[in-house]
Amino acid sequence: MVTRTAACVTTAVVATAMICAATVTGPASSALRRLPAAPAASAATTATTATTANNRCPPPKGDVVTRVPATVPKNVALTFDDGPSPSWTPQLLDILKTNRVHATFFMVGANARAYPRLVRRVAAEGHTVGNHTYSHADMTRLSARRQEAQLDSTTRSISAAVRGGYKPCFFRPPFGVYNSTTVRLARARGMSTVKWSRDTRDWTSPSHPSRSFQRTVVSNATQLTAHPDILMHDGSEGNYRQNTVDSVQRIITFYKSRGYRFTDPVGR
Ligand SMILES: [Zn+2]
Repeated sequence: MVTRTAACVTTAVVATAMICAATVTGPASSALRRLPAAPAASAATTATTATTANNRCPPPKGDVVTRVPATVPKNVALTFDDGPSPSWTPQLLDILKTNRVHATFFMVGANARAYPRLVRRVAAEGHTVGNHTYSHADMTRLSARRQEAQLDSTTRSISAAVRGGYKPCFFRPPFGVYNSTTVRLARARGMSTVKWSRDTRDWTSPSHPSRSFQRTVVSNATQLTAHPDILMHDGSEGNYRQNTVDSVQRIITFYKSRGYRFTDPVGR
C-alpha cells in the first residue's frame, strides 16, 4: 500500500498526458501499470554520467532536502516539475528572465529527450535542471536496477541536450515517494534527493483559466517562512498549466519585495 499526494501519473512517455489526483491510496492504478520502462542502463552509463558536464554539483546531502538550507537569512527555491513543455516552460522562462530570478526545473527524462531545445534554454538562462525520473515513475515500486535505469536515462537525456553536457545535482522523486535505495542511488550519482516544503497544489488545476484558482496557488506559495522550497509544475504537455504561469509573477513579487534571495534547492 502506498499513499501518494501531489500525484501526477504519466500515462504515456512522449505524449505525456498526466493524471493528477489529490490522494491515491492502495495498489497501483491502471495508469501506473501502463508506465513504460526507462531505457535500460548500459554498463558504460550505470556509473555517474556526464563527467564532462560544464556545471558542478555540491556534495550530495545525506538527508532528503525539504526546506532550503539557510545560506542567507531569507531564501526561496522556486521549483517546476514534470516538464519541459513547449506550451508552458517558455512562458515561465520569459517571466523569470524579466524578473532576473532563477528557478529549478525537475524534468521528466522522456520530456527532456523530446524537447532538447527547451532543456538547453533552461540551462543557458542559468536555471537549475533536476532529475525527475524518465517516465514519472513511482520509485518505491521498482527494483534497484530499474530505479537506476530511471535515474541514468534521465541524466543522459538532460546531458545530451546541453552543449558541453549537464550533470543534474538534484533528484526529486515523483509523488514525493522514495525508499532508502532511491536516496542511496541518487547520492551515488552525486545527486541530493529533494522534496519541497510548500505544495502550491497547482497540479489540481482546472483545464481553463481561473482567477480564484490562481489566488489559491499564490496563497499556498506565500505562507511566510524563511526558507521555502515551493512546488509548482510546468508539465507535462497534456496538462493545463496556464494557471501556474499566471500565478508566478505574484509569487516572485511577494518574495522579492521581502528581500528574499532566489536560490537552488540547497541555497546556492
Ligand atoms: Zn512530478
